Amino acid sequence: MIRRVVVLAAVVAVSFAALGFWSVRSQQKPDSLLILNATLADGTGDPLRKANVRIALGHIVGIGELQPEKDEPTLDAKGLVLAPGFIDIHNHSTDELLKDPLAETQIAQGITSLIVGADGDSPWPLIQWIRQEEMNHPALNVGVLAGHATIRQRVMINDFKRVATPSEIRQMEQLLSQAMNQQALGLSSGLEYEVGSYSSTDELVALAKVAAAQSGFYMTHIRDEGDGAFAALNEEIAIGERAHIPVQHSHIKLDTLAVQGKAAEYIKIIEAARKRGVDFLADCYPYDAWHSNLKVVVPDKQYENPRSIEKALASVGGASHITITQFVPNKSYEGHSLAEIAKSNGLTPADMYIRIVREGDADNTEAIIICQSMIESDIQAFYQQPWVMVASDGGIASGHPRGAGTFPRVLGTYVREKHWLTLPEAIRKMTSLPAQRLGWKERGIIREGASADLVLFDPATVMDHSTYRDPAALPTGIEKVFVNGVLVWDGGKPTGARPGFVIGRQGAVLEILD
Ligand SMILES: [Zn+2]
Repeated sequence: MIRRVVVLAAVVAVSFAALGFWSVRSQQKPDSLLILNATLADGTGDPLRKANVRIALGHIVGIGELQPEKDEPTLDAKGLVLAPGFIDIHNHSTDELLKDPLAETQIAQGITSLIVGADGDSPWPLIQWIRQEEMNHPALNVGVLAGHATIRQRVMINDFKRVATPSEIRQMEQLLSQAMNQQALGLSSGLEYEVGSYSSTDELVALAKVAAAQSGFYMTHIRDEGDGAFAALNEEIAIGERAHIPVQHSHIKLDTLAVQGKAAEYIKIIEAARKRGVDFLADCYPYDAWHSNLKVVVPDKQYENPRSIEKALASVGGASHITITQFVPNKSYEGHSLAEIAKSNGLTPADMYIRIVREGDADNTEAIIICQSMIESDIQAFYQQPWVMVASDGGIASGHPRGAGTFPRVLGTYVREKHWLTLPEAIRKMTSLPAQRLGWKERGIIREGASADLVLFDPATVMDHSTYRDPAALPTGIEKVFVNGVLVWDGGKPTGARPGFVIGRQGAVLEILD
């Protein structure tokens, strides 16, 4: 039998190569490997099927009843599911990946590509981060979004607590255009956070138009995920429609008592927008608690007003639902709920809140919290929508279990135990759906010619083990992970290989030339 090696163009030779600082990186590794007896979940959502899969030169080069060539290495995958590598579109490993390029907690979950720059906050300038990542040789692929707050603060410096002037918006447009030229995948915003929260809808539309002109998408942590979640959703949809840009709704949730249980109503608004032609997708992490800073709890920013604070605490179910996970000025708070800390200090929860905010402000840091305020029926309803994908909102060294547990948790708990999703559909939400949003045609799918980013896992045992007390505990059941055809995770540990690329729009592999 003649071995048919099909190697499609790995990367698109994009026009920016002509600019001189990019080129296409050669990534080929000649040896082939035949994976035998695998159960394929190919990323499309189609039913599972048995097949042998050959990889070579960083790509999938054959699928079917293939037999080993003479001396060809093989891998028996009997009982295991072979899926495309998971793509995490919302990951906060920007800085940590530079320190920890092996990214053990990420590849251990089967993540083979992660996107940073979420929530409006991105590295800057992008080209410098891309260069650092290239020299850093990460174990998995990375991509980056341009952050709205990052750009806004470069223009407005510390005078950002107001609506921007037309000339400031023009400067922001120029900076974003620069970032798009440096292969930002799109624009991200974090409108619940300080810098982004003062922007007008018009400012966001103007910037989204710049990203749209270069085939980018708009990914947003909307203004309010609680009492004002419906108004914030309507603003997001309006931005998508006015700027003609695909929208990626970050970590979809309803996180105050006033909106809990209203997922069906929320979904209806999104379905209507999709029917009108808005390219709206969302992502969701599989936990009922969010992770952010203490100020976010009080949406009217009245951090010294006990009445505002009491109302805000009640809206999330009370001070017992808030746990401080990190607080540099006073480590003794860490691991305790706001209710406990208030009690041991003899203060009301609102007064304790004020004290912690003041201590943080004096130290120029913020208290990081976990707040349990979502309900399972909403999470289930979101997960069961075909336009909702899996993303972690976590990353390396996350203080929330989602950082090390998201993908195995969906497979173990939502697929195997609760039957919310079929296995092929869950895999689609981890692979081809994010790839579709990113415009990456060669990843997130098992087919001939696609990049060999692959995960082999045991569907009977795959499970997360990270908890709020031990957020970095590794999952089990993820047996092998390949990135660009190279084995990076094998039987419970990293192999040490670091074959990841920096990937831009249309899946282009980026390299900066000096
Ligand atoms: Zn966010």
